[in-house]
Amino acid sequence: MTFSTTAAERSAELSDRLQRVRTRIRSAAAGSAEPTLIVVTKYFPASDVELLAALGVTDMGENKAQEAAAKAAETSDLNLNWHFIGQLQSNKAKSVVRYASAVHSVDRISLVHALGKAMAAEQQRRAEAGGLPREALECFLQVDLRETLDPGAGSGSGAASGAGRGGALPSELPGLAEAIEAEAGLRLAGVMAVAPLGADPREAFARLRGLSELLCRDFPGATAVSAGMSGDLEAALECGATHLRIGSDILGPRPPVR
Ligand SMILES: *Cc1c(COP(=O)(O)O)cnc(C)c1O
Repeated sequence: MTFSTTAAERSAELSDRLQRVRTRIRSAAAGSAEPTLIVVTKYFPASDVELLAALGVTDMGENKAQEAAAKAAETSDLNLNWHFIGQLQSNKAKSVVRYASAVHSVDRISLVHALGKAMAAEQQRRAEAGGLPREALECFLQVDLRETLDPGAGSGSGAASGAGRGGALPSELPGLAEAIEAEAGLRLAGVMAVAPLGADPREAFARLRGLSELLCRDFPGATAVSAGMSGDLEAALECGATHLRIGSDILGPRPPVR
């Protein structure tokens, strides 16, 4: 994308890329239920969000609290579902519950409590403003799949402390699920993961499916599986993904970070 790209040209480009991704999804998901396509617009401007909405996209993903809040505010007339997919600091919970319908990166008890408290405050704020309450915040438990693939790697610190790409250990899921269910404003949607770098995504996502099935035994409503990015959406769909998070294959290569 350059300075001289007009809105019409950009729209045509987005439309073309979107169509190609939708075709990939259709052929990979053949027969099973259609997954929710979340288009990850991080680093791209609100004008792209508007163009995507005009092309029929209803679900947008962002991974940074400040950028997400600004873009959601700029496009608030479009009635979009915003999915927060990045690592989230507890002190950003209040901002996120203003616009997000879902958080895919819930990975620790302190964040569950912060989101629950923020939802209670948000409902009160809406009531005082004479508005309607918002829907419960959909919470996905982000799992760190690195530890489980290679038990020898970084035992103790690293993966266990949620460093790197984030996520809870599989053994932490039941406790986190219970904590979410105990918060009035939160709903347990299911699990989320990013395939570990350098590993076979099919193996990682198969593992995620196993964890999802385990979770569903105790929490039958938590059926969602958020998995699959531009490079591994086929592997994710093969393993039962219900939510795909696609960025670069639709928006194009991300602009260099300034
Ligand atoms: C950026 C991002 C994506 C999208 O990745 P692409 O490879 O650009 O499709 C998906 N999930 C998370 C958590 C991300 O941060």
